[in-house]
Amino acid sequence: MYRILRRTGIVLVVLALILIPIRGDAAPILRPGDTGQAVVTLQQMLVQAGFPPGPVDGYFGPRTLAALKSFQSTYGLVADGICGPLTWAALERALEVSRDSGRLRGITIALDAGHGGKEPGAISPWGDKEKDFTLLITLKVRDYLERYGAKVILTRYGDYSPGWDWWQPVDELLARVSLANSNAADIFVSVHCNAYPKDPTVSGVMAFYRAGSGESARLAWNLAGPVARMSGLELLGVQEGPYYVLNHTYMPAVLMELGFMTNWHDVTLLRQNWFQDVLAQGIVQGILSYFGR
Ligand SMILES: [Zn+2]
Repeated sequence: MYRILRRTGIVLVVLALILIPIRGDAAPILRPGDTGQAVVTLQQMLVQAGFPPGPVDGYFGPRTLAALKSFQSTYGLVADGICGPLTWAALERALEVSRDSGRLRGITIALDAGHGGKEPGAISPWGDKEKDFTLLITLKVRDYLERYGAKVILTRYGDYSPGWDWWQPVDELLARVSLANSNAADIFVSVHCNAYPKDPTVSGVMAFYRAGSGESARLAWNLAGPVARMSGLELLGVQEGPYYVLNHTYMPAVLMELGFMTNWHDVTLLRQNWFQDVLAQGIVQGILSYFGR
């Protein structure tokens, strides 16, 4: 009897452990002025539903309020600007629909995480490596794009130099462009972080495109806008760049410089999972608008 009681007790404790987190995760009611992770979630869902709330910063300010109200009225809810259970449910449904509709179906996108392996890229004064940030952001971009039905080609999946394990090892830059070209990607997006040791106060986003390619320029402008807007980083410029990966790919190509490894503010943000996610979402919004989807 005692053993049965004890066993029942263990089962109850296990059940409680399983159930408590679920109850704790129940979506909270959010109002203007609120801050925190739940607000980030709300903002990310608004972005994905097509109602961008400005920077995804975890602050329920006027722009989040405006985006939420317009979502609510579009979906037949009371546009009270308060995110309660009905609004959360409507957001979930809206995202399910946009996932199913496959807005990027039939499109192949080459994503190029800068550097890797022996090449760390820029190293921050605090020891952070550019190659780590570029990979984390790129993998997030891939996840979103695949959700929209796109076919995604990655030039690297981990911390290695593309081409090193080929039958005949090739230069990493050649490997990157070969992967994009041989898969007939529709666009090529290279992800980097900038560095400017001369002036550590320089912070922001830049986009480079292939010289003389109007389509590449259009792609760069489409990506730079949402990335800067959603991340809150300043857009420093959209310009031609003399980079190998831009000049040797056959499709519209852009190289994004997301923040500066030499700037404490940018690096602090780049370390955060949620911020990497915001950058990825900015790139995805830009790709959607480039393809008019
Ligand atoms: Zn780089």
